Amino acid sequence: MKALWRRRCARGVRWAEGWVENRAQRSYLAQMAIREIIEVPDPRLKVVSEPVTTFDAALKTLVEDMFETMYDAPGIGLAAVQVGAPLRVLVIDLQPDDPDAEPEVCTAHGGHSHTHQPVKREPRVFINPEILDPSEEHSVYSEGCLSVPEIYAEVERPARIRARWQDLDGKTHEADMDGLMATCLQHEMDHLEGILFIDHLSRLKRQMALKKLDKLRKVA
Ligand SMILES: [Zn+2]
Repeated sequence: MKALWRRRCARGVRWAEGWVENRAQRSYLAQMAIREIIEVPDPRLKVVSEPVTTFDAALKTLVEDMFETMYDAPGIGLAAVQVGAPLRVLVIDLQPDDPDAEPEVCTAHGGHSHTHQPVKREPRVFINPEILDPSEEHSVYSEGCLSVPEIYAEVERPARIRARWQDLDGKTHEADMDGLMATCLQHEMDHLEGILFIDHLSRLKRQMALKKLDKLRKVA
């Protein structure tokens, strides 16, 4: 998933540079790779993902690559199927502002300068996730998706959920979630069923979104 603030400012650009530095320092530890993100209308996005049954080194590598791919994009959530691995694996990092850090001057806008609050890294992995107890109350969030670049639309989902998932060692966890975390997890879990956020829109709005994407691609 892409968050709206990523569109409003180029913080992600500055931030991705920091990640590259970080990656260079860590390269002797792990050979991580940025994988290609599949975009609409690729039929592989419609595939229903398979449950993970083996918690091995290959799974860890997939998750590391997914984090690197998501941070590089930049996004706040990514499902394995978006990098061509139809497994029930999600990575999420909402990257909230770090209130303890010094604001950084942003130079990405060429001309007008302002500051950004640096973000905190909070990487989370969800394997074989399930939603229990979605709230009747719904909330609306303007969503974006790394597989539907540059398109944002309001989607309504249960405001609170209880989620159950496994970690990289296969251990089961449960937690209550609300706010952006609940929205993001539901958005990513849709990918496991081959559903995109634009599939929640009316047919007309979806067609308009895809037309806009076509136009943007032609310009690029
Ligand atoms: Zn998405």
